[in-house]
Amino acid sequence: MGKIHIMDEWLSNKIAAGEVVERPASVVKELVENAIDAGSTSIDVFLVEAGLTSIQVIDNGSGMDEEDALIAFSRHATSKIHQEHDLFRIRTLGFRGEALASIAAVSKMTLITSNGESGTYLELEGGHVVTHKPGALRKGTDITIAQLFFNTPARLKYMKTIQTELGHTIDLMNRLALGNPTIAFRVLHNGQQLLQTNGRGDVQQVLAAIYGVHNAKKMIAFEGTSQDYRIFGYASLPEITRASKNYMSLFVNGRWVKHYLIQKAIVDAYHTYLPIERFPIVAIFIEGDPYLTDVNVHPAKHQIRLSKEPELLQLVEDTIRASIRQIIRVPQIEKKE
Ligand code: ADP
Ligand code: MG
Repeated sequence: MGKIHIMDEWLSNKIAAGEVVERPASVVKELVENAIDAGSTSIDVFLVEAGLTSIQVIDNGSGMDEEDALIAFSRHATSKIHQEHDLFRIRTLGFRGEALASIAAVSKMTLITSNGESGTYLELEGGHVVTHKPGALRKGTDITIAQLFFNTPARLKYMKTIQTELGHTIDLMNRLALGNPTIAFRVLHNGQQLLQTNGRGDVQQVLAAIYGVHNAKKMIAFEGTSQDYRIFGYASLPEITRASKNYMSLFVNGRWVKHYLIQKAIVDAYHTYLPIERFPIVAIFIEGDPYLTDVNVHPAKHQIRLSKEPELLQLVEDTIRASIRQIIRVPQIEKKE
């Protein structure tokens, strides 16, 4: 008899969890992205001890019926892509159908979900359903993750301080709020409110909620189009700078991404207006045919491959430069060699 066998789903979920679920912030990311994909207009996030004790996400989206709620925890269960063709036209934040299975495998999870017609209540431990009964009829989903990594002690040991873990989650929530100004977000930590947006679609209001009203007032709007891309957003005046590139947030078709060359194009747009080693606060929204943007590079989907990249970089640099030049009144800072 051969030695090779197909591992059971429970074990493979636990292994996949190592990739998808790095820390509390990764759980928050997957749950909130699911809430966004479900068409929610209001999303509340409650954290206890930076999410290490519990993470609760309550949305008012589509909810799930009982059948879907039960299958949602299976690996590769997704309502978002059906065929290969869909992979090249991804509009939703999720599509791999891995998150819930992975998170459930390493936590104790409670799910209350309703599509408005029926309600379902489920409790899972390490990915196994332990309670299943009818739930409340409030349309939307209420999901609680308790004791993350309770059955993977090695991963639990790797967690940093509450402050560090909370920092990662706040950073993430700030970007999700920025990327979705038409959704009202609330984030509470140990009962204390850390972020609140009103969901009225006003990016500047979200910027004010994150960076303060004073800074938001010092940000200028920009907008530009090229053959394949449309960009818009806000960029801070050179008097408002930060020591880190982290304050430049990039969104491609609504998804927050990291892209070194776009960041560089933004900095180049400021030319000599920025002091050495200082960076602007920017929120830039890039829209283009999903065909041009491949997000299926890594499970966390932070990275993106762009077609027609030079065209986009030029558009970013030109558009931001033009809007800064229009407003700027401060003298240029001499660049030291
Ligand atoms: P993916 O988001 O990649 O499809 P997930 O494991 O994150 O995979 O979720 C599996 C499925 O569960 C989703 O495709 C969706 O149909 C359903 N789902 C998850 N969270 C929610 C939610 N908050 N509201 C409605 N449906 C949800
Ligand atoms: Mg998902």
